[in-house]
Amino acid sequence: MALIVQKYGGTSVANPERIKKVAQRVARFHAQGHQVVVVVSAMSGETDRLIRLAREIHARPDERELDVMVSTGEQVTIALTAMAIQQEGIPARSYTGSQVRILTDNAHTKARILDIDAARLRADLDAGFVVVVAGFQGVTDRGDITTLGRGGSDTTGVAIAAALRADECQIYTDVDGVYTTDPRIVPQARRLSTVTFEEMLEMASLGSKVLQTRSVEFAGKYRVKLRVLSSFTESDNDGTLITFEEQSPMEQPIISGIAFNRDEAKLSLLGVPDRPGIAHAILSPVGAAHVDVDMIIQNIGVDGSTDFSFTVHRNDYNKTLDLLTHTIKPQTGAREVRGDNRICKVSIVGVGMRSHAGVASQMFQTLANEGINIQMISTSEIKISVVIDEKYMELAVRALHKTFGLDGEDSPNKG
Ligand code: ASP
Ligand code: MG
Repeated sequence: MALIVQKYGGTSVANPERIKKVAQRVARFHAQGHQVVVVVSAMSGETDRLIRLAREIHARPDERELDVMVSTGEQVTIALTAMAIQQEGIPARSYTGSQVRILTDNAHTKARILDIDAARLRADLDAGFVVVVAGFQGVTDRGDITTLGRGGSDTTGVAIAAALRADECQIYTDVDGVYTTDPRIVPQARRLSTVTFEEMLEMASLGSKVLQTRSVEFAGKYRVKLRVLSSFTESDNDGTLITFEEQSPMEQPIISGIAFNRDEAKLSLLGVPDRPGIAHAILSPVGAAHVDVDMIIQNIGVDGSTDFSFTVHRNDYNKTLDLLTHTIKPQTGAREVRGDNRICKVSIVGVGMRSHAGVASQMFQTLANEGINIQMISTSEIKISVVIDEKYMELAVRALHKTFGLDGEDSPNKG
């Protein structure tokens, strides 16, 4: 007998028929003698609908009230899911985040989980119930409802699995696992049977939308065994298992996946004085405006001045451009401000990079062969990212997917 947490995303609970399918899957696991905790998202589109509704009342709704409102999406699906499981003849009980007591900080709309009281869930499980918990929501120590950021039900699932020391956390979604890249861009993309936790973390933060980044961080920290599967296939197929490096197959391909992200924009300050404190003078006002900076490049100074470029989320582009033009340029004595919001970031990810030289040059050569100019580069131990013109994104992703042997059957260890 195992204790399994199953998290179902919005498309998996999109309507009564889908919810009945969820209940049938839960019933299969229950019949095998497993204890099951189900975590659900709101029906697909519901959270967006609620946010739109709030915006019809107020352009920038109060975040406490927004949380009270958007958390209702999950409150509906927990009750429906519990009813559907009962319909399968299995006792089930639903809980909101505050009923469980998923304690969070008070950062409304992006709260962090501080603690989960697992006692009530455990007592129900031991009494033979399937427990259904609302994803995405928690409660502060003052009893205010909070939400965990978009896609936050993944984090609820993993956090509950950690709190209950579950044997496995299964994330059911509309794709049957983690792919080498987005199959909509590269039809030859393949499902990975395993991917390391570190690779998954890079891929999630680089734009692969399969799991919320924070849920992957959580799984790493608490060593939760995490698996991504489809709720749309009848077979309980294996999906993709997120492994820790020491447990993964010995012979790994060098590159596991290609990630991409169109959500960034580039800003440059040309002719800034090349002296100590300049990076701080540029980036601290940006940080104070709550703009997150991703990549940063500074050129070698010539004649006492240098060029400084960085990327931000595209939503923050106009705000940052204004800040550079009206505040930072005059403050630093820079010559010129430039911006480009038609860029994208393409990244190759793989733990095999650690032990293989020449991966970067292979990447750059591939892009050169396609005539694609690289504007910025950043690397970590297991990732190389480049910024390029967004119009070449698909071309770059396809070419890299091929170069690194990810197309078709080229890489027999995975898929
Ligand atoms: N319903 C929330 C959202 O749409 C949380 C989730 O689905 O994970 O972001
Ligand atoms: Mg989701």
